[in-house]
Amino acid sequence: MKAVLDHVGIAVRDLDAALAFYRDGLGLEIDAPEDVISQRVRARFVPVGSASLELLEATAADSPIARYIEKHGPGLHHITLRVDDITAALTLLKSRGARLIDEQPRPGAEGALIAFIHPSSAHGVLVELKQTSRVPAACSSVITHTLGDLELISLHDGCFRLDGGSMFGVVPKPLWSAKAVPDDRNRIRLAMRPLVVRGDKTMIIDAGLGDKEDAKFSDIYGVDRAPGLDASLDEAGLSPEDIDIVLATHLHFDHAGGFTTRDASGRVRPRFPRARYVVRRGEWDDATHPHERNRASYRPDNYVPLAEAGVLDLVDGDQTIMPGVRVHRTGGHNMHHQMVWMESAGRRAAFVGDLIPTTAHLPDPWIMGFDLYPMDTLAAKKAFVHEALERRDLVYFEHDPFVAAGYISEDNGKRHVTPL
Ligand SMILES: [Zn+2]
Ligand SMILES: [Zn+2]
Repeated sequence: MKAVLDHVGIAVRDLDAALAFYRDGLGLEIDAPEDVISQRVRARFVPVGSASLELLEATAADSPIARYIEKHGPGLHHITLRVDDITAALTLLKSRGARLIDEQPRPGAEGALIAFIHPSSAHGVLVELKQTSRVPAACSSVITHTLGDLELISLHDGCFRLDGGSMFGVVPKPLWSAKAVPDDRNRIRLAMRPLVVRGDKTMIIDAGLGDKEDAKFSDIYGVDRAPGLDASLDEAGLSPEDIDIVLATHLHFDHAGGFTTRDASGRVRPRFPRARYVVRRGEWDDATHPHERNRASYRPDNYVPLAEAGVLDLVDGDQTIMPGVRVHRTGGHNMHHQMVWMESAGRRAAFVGDLIPTTAHLPDPWIMGFDLYPMDTLAAKKAFVHEALERRDLVYFEHDPFVAAGYISEDNGKRHVTPL
């Protein structure tokens, strides 16, 4: 059995003050992507060599960290050891009489399995064992949620990469790189997460990048689709034949690439053989008449064959596409970008597309440099977040590598997401 130190958890009263010491005071770089909110705890990882310090701040008086600080004061909370086989490790410990808090491993963040050992068996230290998942957790979850009479299934078409600076517009790199780690070509990882809505009919909103692009494209955009949309449809018990309606937020390649596929003869044809494809008319006009500034985002093979096959329905204005599913123009990202509201039995969920592509884009000024009309994005985002906070709407983040959906909260002007 081999165990490697993964991280050391430190309970702190004030996360920002702790960061001022552990990050700024010690000059350490933060490359962990995000704040994690679960169990009423806000966490921040500060890498030190191959391990990290995890600074943990309670967000509620009844959280485990709050109770710990009340009893012991702030300080060392736990150490986490990474093992290859957590079940074998627990079995061995148990056979030697160790007191286990978790007799069975349970799911932790990012697809890991975790289990805690009681401090009384570990010489006064709370020990967490962790087995990281063998499949990469990023961009890969299929998550089903019931919303009244609707079933919502978040799928994935893998990851791709875009320039980090372009993804965050006017936000300086020292700020955005703490939320999204750039690679050596300054690109950050983004997911493509189409959403299936099952109600009167079976609809898919956007369809990822698809499989028509060549090696050069895949290199520029760091495409890693495996296992791809068909595999995640399959995981959800669906096939392309089950889809009645394909709805586009807009026609950029990372949303509409999967609308079509190349058949054995090399001809591009609709990917979902029974589906009608619903596109906003203004977006269709823009996509079929691109200009110098937006041309790179539009690839005619993704949508022109739909018109040729007679499966295209152009819609004007905000309207209901199927019972419980309504489109709403946000503009901003481009003139006719639309988001999708889903509502049933008084509960609502929003698929916001490129209005708020990742959870890192929640602060108002964190707006993509790609956006053609950033001031419109700002207005649409403010209005949307206000509404989502008020009504506790579930929000789907199409490009977030780790968080497919969650509930937004705001605390002293800072926004957080509690993942679904
Ligand atoms: Zn876009
Ligand atoms: Zn996009």
